[in-house]
Amino acid sequence: MTVIGLDDTDSRTRGMCTTYLAARVADSVRNAGGDVERLLLVRLNPAVKHKTRGNAALAVHTDLDPGVAFELARDELEAAAETGDPNTNPGLVVAPHAPETVPDGVSTFAQAAVRDHLSREQADRRIESAGYRSTGWKNARGKIGALAAVGSWAAFTEWTYEQISYRESERWGTRRNVDFDSVFAAESDEYPTVWDTVDRGTGEAVCVPHTPCPILHGIRGDDPDAVRRVADEIESEQVIKTAQFVTNQGTDAHLRDADPGNVKDGHAYRITGTVTSKPETRQGGHVFFTLTDGASRLPCAAFEPTKRFRDHVRNLRPRDEITVCGEVARGTVKLEKFAVRTLDATELVTPTCPDCGRSMKSAGAEQGYRCRDCGTRADGKVERRIERELEHGWYEVPPEARRHIAKPLVRGGFDGPTHPER
Ligand code: ATP
Repeated sequence: MTVIGLDDTDSRTRGMCTTYLAARVADSVRNAGGDVERLLLVRLNPAVKHKTRGNAALAVHTDLDPGVAFELARDELEAAAETGDPNTNPGLVVAPHAPETVPDGVSTFAQAAVRDHLSREQADRRIESAGYRSTGWKNARGKIGALAAVGSWAAFTEWTYEQISYRESERWGTRRNVDFDSVFAAESDEYPTVWDTVDRGTGEAVCVPHTPCPILHGIRGDDPDAVRRVADEIESEQVIKTAQFVTNQGTDAHLRDADPGNVKDGHAYRITGTVTSKPETRQGGHVFFTLTDGASRLPCAAFEPTKRFRDHVRNLRPRDEITVCGEVARGTVKLEKFAVRTLDATELVTPTCPDCGRSMKSAGAEQGYRCRDCGTRADGKVERRIERELEHGWYEVPPEARRHIAKPLVRGGFDGPTHPER
């Protein structure tokens, strides 16, 4: 068996897409007489600065001879990678064994690539000690992702699927012609096995990208046949190629558990604490509040693009106990989802007089309250029950604002009730 890992071939402005290149490599493998067992699309640490968009890396699992596979993949990258873009630094790594049998150092490298920050030098050392063939273009940063793609099959256990349909090359960069009604109809047949196809709140077809890349649409879900069926039902301009990828999308593989005082920029976490400030909407529509575990305070933000999710965040109150998920950037958690653990359903209010029902007045500093008419007294403010808009359990950003790697609530497996967005 042979594993071909590749990364960093596309450009934000010039187009291309590493999934497309992997699909072309798979075609070349088949043309050379090899069998393609699967295509793997792994999303690495979404906080990596130099990513083009979704920090994707790709692997092709095949029975083709590793030497032949290397030559053929190198030719494909040479021909198609957008190396004219200063930020495109392709990398190729080929392992001469089955994807399950990578050395431990390679699978831990893959795990670290999803949650941490790695260097090209670290990748080179691992590639050398594993005895893999590799090459790179320009600064060859893509070798980091290429090696991570090689190690991923052994590193992770949870997998989902994406069926990607590609456009004719003459149309790349032009407006996509996709019939939205057919997208919504196909989605309703297969939801929730197939997820994040559309955003019913905004009416957007989330599966159709807006970038100049070769992708016409990408259908994500838990079942390989269901994603294929949805893709087949969509009416659109001509599709010149389709490929199915096994992916870590929608799995939350980037999150790790932490306390509010124990987080670093550029990493993503699951953090439990108590809300200490009333959520505040600031300029640009971003909503901020602070979380604490008693010892440390951590700012959290629901940014404007998370749209209706911000309403749930605005409904939080001090003393609510919650778990937040998201990446920490400049000391602030960028919220992807949160779970209500305990809702504070009381507030402190000025007491009312039990005799006349009027609001009591302060009797002076530390003197409690007094009814001016009846003379009745109360020691201090009293608790009143309040209605809360929020319920227990998980709330998430809408499909349109979802990060590729973030797990949609509809996939299940959460430690509480869920309120999925569709
Ligand atoms: P697209 O989603 O359109 O394919 P992209 O967002 O995947 O593009 P790339 O062009 O692949 O972005 O750039 C990401 C770069 O970051 C690659 O060179 C990859 O090797 C590198 N990289 C990935 N993960 C890490 C990490 N954890 N630490 C350091 N570098 C990383």
